[in-house]
Amino acid sequence: MKTLREAPKDETARNGALLTRAGYVYKEMAGVYDFLPLGLRVIEKIKNIVREELNAIGGQEVLLSSLQNPELWEKTGRFSDQEVDIWFKTEVTGGGLLGLAPTHEEPITNLMKSFVSSYKDLPFAVYQFQTKFRNEKRAKSGILRGREFLMKDMYSFHRTEEDLDRYYAKVEKAYARIFARLGLDETYETFASGGIFAKYSHEYQTFLPVGEDTVYYNSDKSVVLNEEVLLPEVLADLGVKREDLATTAAAEVGNIFKLKFKYSEPLGLKFIDEKNTQQTVYMGCYGIGISRVMGVIAEKFADGKGLVWPKAVAPFKVYLVGIGEAGIAKAQEFYTGHEDEILFDDRDARPGEKFADAELIGLPLRVVISDRTIAEGVAEVTERKTGETRKVALDKLATIL
Ligand code: ATP
Ligand code: MG
Repeated sequence: MKTLREAPKDETARNGALLTRAGYVYKEMAGVYDFLPLGLRVIEKIKNIVREELNAIGGQEVLLSSLQNPELWEKTGRFSDQEVDIWFKTEVTGGGLLGLAPTHEEPITNLMKSFVSSYKDLPFAVYQFQTKFRNEKRAKSGILRGREFLMKDMYSFHRTEEDLDRYYAKVEKAYARIFARLGLDETYETFASGGIFAKYSHEYQTFLPVGEDTVYYNSDKSVVLNEEVLLPEVLADLGVKREDLATTAAAEVGNIFKLKFKYSEPLGLKFIDEKNTQQTVYMGCYGIGISRVMGVIAEKFADGKGLVWPKAVAPFKVYLVGIGEAGIAKAQEFYTGHEDEILFDDRDARPGEKFADAELIGLPLRVVISDRTIAEGVAEVTERKTGETRKVALDKLATIL
């Protein structure tokens, strides 16, 4: 990797500019980014937190294809560009169109027809980390809105509405744990956009000045609402007054839906119940914008000097700098055996340049070992977030990892 002094001119979003300058991503074109070694490590850390929490509620990981069979989407009317206006479609040699997956309800529902026939096959939930393609009109927000982006999408399958409700509540708890672990404390569950889904879907909104959404909240933030649901009956139901709600910009990091029969009906996902009667499968779906989450974290915690990663998603814990011959040798010694936690800046560069890059890259701790600190038997450990430096005995240095 290399850091850059300036962000590319066409990168107007702060997350895109900082992530590019610090060597996390490379912009191919508007809304399309490559993840470089540091960036990929952040993505993997985010995925692992999500994976652990979804496995804990019984989710099974799968990976579905990106190329989509139009026949399935025609059954729900969603291959039409009028119905879904963000399709990327491509011609197949020999004729015909394929779609590039914007989401996966249709294929997953169809796939499960091969695995669900009896009530004994239910319930279960599957999820994936998958690249989605969407021809978004605006793609000027860095990795917050991609035309190609990483999503976690989970789908659950149930015999009854009560069972769907129960699982939905479990997912809500899992999501609360996920966003807390990601360090995104200011993430709230809100009612999603109006229409028939208002009661059956929720969004997860992180307060963020550059977020594209607007949310309304009461003083203790026990009620956080999307703009679309500020209806008098909703407010009355929640016991809040419009004039008592403050407003802020926010980014949607996830959302969850009780789909019920929305896809299982048109695609014919059925099962035979205990009384030998055919029934339609109840479904739920649950999304998290993995690459958007990385952009939100980058935006939310960055300061004037660069990125500031929460420990849980930082690509490495420590940025290590050795100064002088003995300092470099001692740093090398500390690095050996801890390669997965330490980014060792062993470039032939001035310490000042290394310190500036340490701040730009934003790992939680910077460790400096020099001839001078060795004379004291210590290393200098600086916290990126606060800028505070403390001395740690060289023989105790591993305790900071
Ligand atoms: P938005 O309103 O931001 O377009 P959406 O309602 O279209 O989101 P879903 O289709 O439900 O989103 O996707 C699930 C999650 O994927 C969203 O909550 C969001 O975090 C993320 N996401 C959606 N579109 C994008 C995008 N273009 N780039 C990056 N992440 C996205
Ligand atoms: Mg969208």
